Amino acid sequence: TDLKNIRNFSIVAHIDHGKSTLADRLIQLTGTVAERDMKAQMLDSMDIERERGITIKANSVRIEYPAQDGQTYILNLIDTPGHVDFAYEVSRSMRAVEGSLLVVDATQGVEAQTLANVYQAIDADHEIVPVLNKIDLPASEPEQVKANIEDVIGIDASESIEISAKTGLGIPDVLEAIVKRLPAPTGDRDKPLKAMLVDSWYDSYLGVVVLIRVMDGVIKKGDKIKMMKTGAAYGVDKLSVLKPQMVDIAELGPGEIGIFTASIKQVRDTKVGDTITHEKKPCAEALPGFKPSIPVVFCGLFPVDAADFEDLRTAIEKLSLNDASFSSEMETSAALGFGFRCGFLGLLHLEVIRDRLEREYDIDLITTAPSVIYKLHMKDGSVEDLHNPADMPDLTYVDHIEEPRIKATIMVPDDYLGDVLKLCQDRRGIQMDLTYAGSRAMVVYDLPLNEVVFDFYDRLKSVTKGYASFDYQMIGYREDNLVKMQILVNDEPVDALSTMVHRERAESRGRAMCEKLKDLIPRHMFKIPIQAAIGGKVIARETLAALRKDVTAKCYGGDATRKKKLLEKQKAGKKKMRQFGKVEIPQEAFINALKMD
Ligand code: GDP
Ligand code: MG
Repeated sequence: TDLKNIRNFSIVAHIDHGKSTLADRLIQLTGTVAERDMKAQMLDSMDIERERGITIKANSVRIEYPAQDGQTYILNLIDTPGHVDFAYEVSRSMRAVEGSLLVVDATQGVEAQTLANVYQAIDADHEIVPVLNKIDLPASEPEQVKANIEDVIGIDASESIEISAKTGLGIPDVLEAIVKRLPAPTGDRDKPLKAMLVDSWYDSYLGVVVLIRVMDGVIKKGDKIKMMKTGAAYGVDKLSVLKPQMVDIAELGPGEIGIFTASIKQVRDTKVGDTITHEKKPCAEALPGFKPSIPVVFCGLFPVDAADFEDLRTAIEKLSLNDASFSSEMETSAALGFGFRCGFLGLLHLEVIRDRLEREYDIDLITTAPSVIYKLHMKDGSVEDLHNPADMPDLTYVDHIEEPRIKATIMVPDDYLGDVLKLCQDRRGIQMDLTYAGSRAMVVYDLPLNEVVFDFYDRLKSVTKGYASFDYQMIGYREDNLVKMQILVNDEPVDALSTMVHRERAESRGRAMCEKLKDLIPRHMFKIPIQAAIGGKVIARETLAALRKDVTAKCYGGDATRKKKLLEKQKAGKKKMRQFGKVEIPQEAFINALKMD
């Protein structure tokens, strides 16, 4: 295809502003998918994505559009993940296209993820077309939202397109704007092949499928290609475009987007952002800015029933096949037995994986508190990464500890600003900026990632009744006064409840945890001390009183069948319990004890 008849674009939006609905409309209006095959949200493939309305993996679709100028254009839409956890994938897919539709819900205005994503688009030198969605709703205020886009983002919004992705109003204008306002790609057919690896996934029939954007040169079926970062070479077995179902194609030239398969074993062998070239006639240099995405949040995953360990291993292996940014290694815990220490790109990523393990593989899991990577500067001058608070070495060997910090951007109606500031302050935040656009405030905080990974997002939603939006990026490591706090139940340390806390917060955190555990652990026949300790020194203590009598005897006297039923119920309940010495702890306790109010 002639370069001047190609347009490559992405859609950037805050969650729920209508990105998927708009994509569906574009696909539908151009007849890319027959009407009878249309199902809502064509591009969101995984069930969990659909349920939560989030897009996790970038995906793409090729649309043929006969424009008003009489020519037919090929429009390639790359659907980028909208969530902060996948910021690197977003930035890569942005580099694969030349323009973006900036979708803003005309009843809401610009939100935190709108900002984060549009800045990525600006960074990638995109031409940006603002699109105001949901103008069918009486509450929509297009003029105000235009002013809001100009104030907050600083781009011209006078030529925004007003649409309703739901009713289809304005969609033809969007298609024309893509052709007229976005630039055609550039590239040279005669140069050696240079293509960007935009995304990859595992397909149970085809194996690893790789989504690419060709910059220069031509790729054909049967070509011997090479990945420049990993150095591995493969033969191209299948070359297709996504409409969005795969349609085989003879070649992909400059500016084009498509997929290939090449008997690649694991998604891990394909690094997003890598450069693909011909093995025999490689391009001179790789595309700039490659960086592998690395996990920043860690937690332990243990089967509730030790007999499920092998099933868990198999399930984790299967999931890692398709997700190179999810890491795992075996871990043994004195309290929880055999399990895995897993690394994730962020909290949502963690939740998605845990959900899939429980739902698709039907394994009951105990998830230990999420933790971040600390840098331990040892007295001998070495630096060690600490992924698990349980592995914290004796403090006498440690000179100081650094923790990862983030820059968090929060947008909130000013009525709730006070609550947001308090929350950030409570989480050891340092305010960096506070600005207003109309009645909305934008506040920027420097926060320890550790204080955010757990329940920050839930708390933020609840103190602002859901009106705040949030986005973050890592800004580096900084020293602070951090200690490991242990929890002892019946005088035995429960390693799964060990956490790193700031020294000044340790007492209050410890007290809160002991109080919670006292409610979460059922009473036993004996009294149970629950303590929080730092380096052997107890800083908080609660006592769970003993049960006075046998439960069954107390409740039901001599009724044999009811007594049997009760015992059976207790047995079933035990599946979700863990034995620590003489004490049984229910699995919710591990997560709930760490929630902060
Ligand atoms: P995404 O998270 O940006 O992909 O948003 P979705 O496309 O999933 O849309 C979020 C919600 O807004 C869904 O319930 C849509 O049906 C609804 N929605 C999308 N576009 C419109 C619109 O133009 N008008 C109205 N009234 N609702 C819309
Ligand atoms: Mg969506």
